Amino acid sequence: MPFARIKAASYYLRVRLAVWYGGVFAGLVLVALVVVYEGSRYTIIQETDQRLLEDAKETAQAVAQLHSDRRRVEEMLARKADTHTHERMFLQLLEPDGKLSWASKEAPPLIPEQHQHDEEGVFPVREFGEFRVAQRYVTFPDVPRYLVRVGASQAQINAAVWNRMRVMTVAGLLVVILAPLGGYWVAGSAIQPLTNILQTASRLRPTQLADRLPIRGTHDELDQLSTTINRFLDQIGEYLQSKREFVANAAHELRSPLAAIRSSVEVALGAERSTEEYQNLLETVADECAQLTSLVNQLLLLAESGAGHILRHVEVLRLDALVEASGDMFRGVAEERGVALEVRIDEPMQVCGDASSLRQVINNLLDNAVKYTEPGGAVNVTAFRDGVGRPVLRVADTGCGISKHDLTHVFERFYRGDKSREREGRRRGTGLGLAITHAIVQAHGGTIEVESEVGKGTTFTVTLPPATLTKQADDGAPQSAA
Ligand code: ADP
Repeated sequence: MPFARIKAASYYLRVRLAVWYGGVFAGLVLVALVVVYEGSRYTIIQETDQRLLEDAKETAQAVAQLHSDRRRVEEMLARKADTHTHERMFLQLLEPDGKLSWASKEAPPLIPEQHQHDEEGVFPVREFGEFRVAQRYVTFPDVPRYLVRVGASQAQINAAVWNRMRVMTVAGLLVVILAPLGGYWVAGSAIQPLTNILQTASRLRPTQLADRLPIRGTHDELDQLSTTINRFLDQIGEYLQSKREFVANAAHELRSPLAAIRSSVEVALGAERSTEEYQNLLETVADECAQLTSLVNQLLLLAESGAGHILRHVEVLRLDALVEASGDMFRGVAEERGVALEVRIDEPMQVCGDASSLRQVINNLLDNAVKYTEPGGAVNVTAFRDGVGRPVLRVADTGCGISKHDLTHVFERFYRGDKSREREGRRRGTGLGLAITHAIVQAHGGTIEVESEVGKGTTFTVTLPPATLTKQADDGAPQSAA
């Protein structure tokens, strides 16, 4: 259907621009034609009036000279009228009493006389029906006061105007016809870069984001659009890369406990074992299962580490109570390892957040502090307010410390420090604890900092917004009141 095809074509920017371009051009041409038409008409009327006045003057002079010989007057008038027939001009001579004395062939029926003439007896040129007419009295001494009328057809004037306009009208029509084509061409070259962008963009696939949109170096809006999209593609690429690494690392981490379980089961099934051996093997399986469970939980938490997932139940909490409880929980483990655990809380302090997430932050920090501190060392946990009233949790240990290099990576997922520090028999870390801690603190609108010196110890400092909270942000992150 042609209508459907036209409708489909109108969706193309190029066609729409061409139509606009053609429309605007046609409008301008139309205005120009009207202005030229009016201008030409005015000029031609002025020229015609001038000629009519001169003819009337010449005729009046000739009548004055020949008035005594009527025959010669009529011959003169006929001659004059003849020279003008092709221009459809007419001549009339009226007696002083107003009766028609002589009229040329083209002359219309007697036209009414005007009364406002100047002192030379000349009337202004006026329109009478389809004629423009100049009139004047013969005002010579001793000559009867004849009235001379010279007229020209308006149709003739219009024809002269159109004569002048013809070329312009044809040219204008040509412009109107060609303008949309020109517009189509101009729009085509203007949107060519956009077409290139579209083609490149349509080649992009989630698995193949290497292509970048062309930058022409013109610094125009299209270049800015390409730069913005390219930057966005870079970010998507980085995001996908980190997701890929995350999945690869997760698979790698899951493999070790699974391998341990499998080998324990194989050993158990391989031959008849004593009850004690079976018990040991089952304990290993149970340990690895526990490791798997914690790993899967951590992976889930990290995979969903948007603030909405971390802050499931936001409420006003006593940070001091959470710290106290965690301290109690780790006291036994610390004692077992010969580490002195001291908890000091300056004052009761409230924070706004998710209790289980914040508990996880404190537990992760305490677990690491106890884990990486040699027997005889100490772990100091303090909760206090900083200079601007924000609740601060500080976990300081006198453990092995973290090297400068590791310090820049400890908050990354799956990052584990120098393996040589890991003592035999200690459960392998996942390298996820601090990444999770960092994500939780961030979701609460807080900050986490670490200071460490190898051989001397490590201090983690978590600063949270105060609990004078009035609302939760759209993404679930708490906002502190001003
Ligand atoms: P992990 O499960 O390995 O402990 P984390 O993300 O909790 O994972 O910690 C990452 C790394 O940071 C650890 O492997 C360890 O090298 C280092 N680390 C964390 N806390 C301490 C600490 N208190 N003392 C020394 N090293 C630490």
